[in-house]
Amino acid sequence: MHTASAATKLFFAHALLPGGWARDVILTIENGAITAVADNSSSAGAEIIKGVALPGMPNLHSHAFQRAMAGLTELRGETQDSFWTWRQLMYRFIDTLTPDDVETIAAYAYAEMLEGGFTSVAEFHYLHHDASGAPYGDLAELASRIASACVETGIGLTLLPVFYNFSGFGGAAPVHGQRRFINDPARFLSLLERSREVIKPVTDAAIGIAPHSLRAVTPETLAEVLKAVPSCPIHMHIAEQVKEVEDCIAWCGQRPVSWLLDHVDVNQRWVLIHATHLTPEETAGIARSGAVVGLCPLTEANLGDGIFEGLRLIEAGGVFGVGSDSNIEISAFGELKQFEYSQRLLHRVRNAVSRHAGESTGRALYEHALTGGAKASGRAIGALAVGKRADIVVLDDAHPDLCGVSGDRWLDAAAFVAGKSAISSVYVGGKQVVEGGRHLKRSGITERYRRVVQRLASL
Ligand code: ZN
Repeated sequence: MHTASAATKLFFAHALLPGGWARDVILTIENGAITAVADNSSSAGAEIIKGVALPGMPNLHSHAFQRAMAGLTELRGETQDSFWTWRQLMYRFIDTLTPDDVETIAAYAYAEMLEGGFTSVAEFHYLHHDASGAPYGDLAELASRIASACVETGIGLTLLPVFYNFSGFGGAAPVHGQRRFINDPARFLSLLERSREVIKPVTDAAIGIAPHSLRAVTPETLAEVLKAVPSCPIHMHIAEQVKEVEDCIAWCGQRPVSWLLDHVDVNQRWVLIHATHLTPEETAGIARSGAVVGLCPLTEANLGDGIFEGLRLIEAGGVFGVGSDSNIEISAFGELKQFEYSQRLLHRVRNAVSRHAGESTGRALYEHALTGGAKASGRAIGALAVGKRADIVVLDDAHPDLCGVSGDRWLDAAAFVAGKSAISSVYVGGKQVVEGGRHLKRSGITERYRRVVQRLASL
């Protein structure tokens, strides 16, 4: 329920609007949304905010609970480590997580996201059941804990309940480590309905669905779920790993993205997470479909997934956004930098993503990811414009790396040099949540998080 509130007016000496940089900007905000944007304005009657206003970055892919595993899997095992050995450790890690743990870890991750420039999160939520694999009394118990963490931290939410039915291509039976994820289509649809209820306390939250991967569904169960949910974003992990591509070919004779494009109506609603291993035809097909590619460059590097051919997607007119995925490091600028550097290393060039002489790479990266991230979220975000949520990241223009420059150079300095230390304050729906680079509830959330990780470490 929303009660009407008086309009808030925030004044910024500099702001990045859809048409470019503007001076002396007043954003009028009502019920969390921007209702007027005026540049070349006097600050009279407005709250003056020091710094440079940017649209907040949507995080299009997160598994919040994995934040508590960060740093625990960086030692070599008996065999050559890979995504698949990491996944074994992740399955063991979740054995002991309680609903309270999930909420605390998510609150910690979301506070870090806000400090790191992400003002909303698309939570790809696949931990559904208790440690024995039985549903909780409330099927959406753990989704409600994600929602509570969003309420506490103030981050915007697109909740993506995950449909996870099988363990491998062709309907292989789930393994023990997956017992907390598994639902058949009927129970998944009940979970989805219940999830719509539990996100209601989160202001302006949206819901989508996430068939986990082609490994986790069959063509029949995927079709059944898609038919039952005719609108809302659809997110899916796809073609992250070479082995996954090989297993898919062994199953059906086609690569995962080729199979999906040929058998499912992939359109503007779709978000293909990772899509690391593509043929040029698959890249062109994704671009034509209008689907967003969800890149998670820091996690993809950490897991050794491979390098996404980003320039090929951009040249084909495709759209991408960024996500923090395993939350090994949480930073919007960090994701953009890692993506750009992957392209530089791959093609042995500099300023890979910018397309014409004089174009700023920091600005090009930021605007690409805003567009893709907003589209993937299914919410009115991603721009300082009338009708959008007032999600604002403020850069500190007195920061040593930013104080001598202006305009696009601020974004270049933030993306490539200062990182999240360039962020001074953050607003979500017009409400301040970060001040001086720190989440307003940081101390209490950190104290709770410390107790959880200490207990998990002692098990
Ligand atoms: Zn993921």
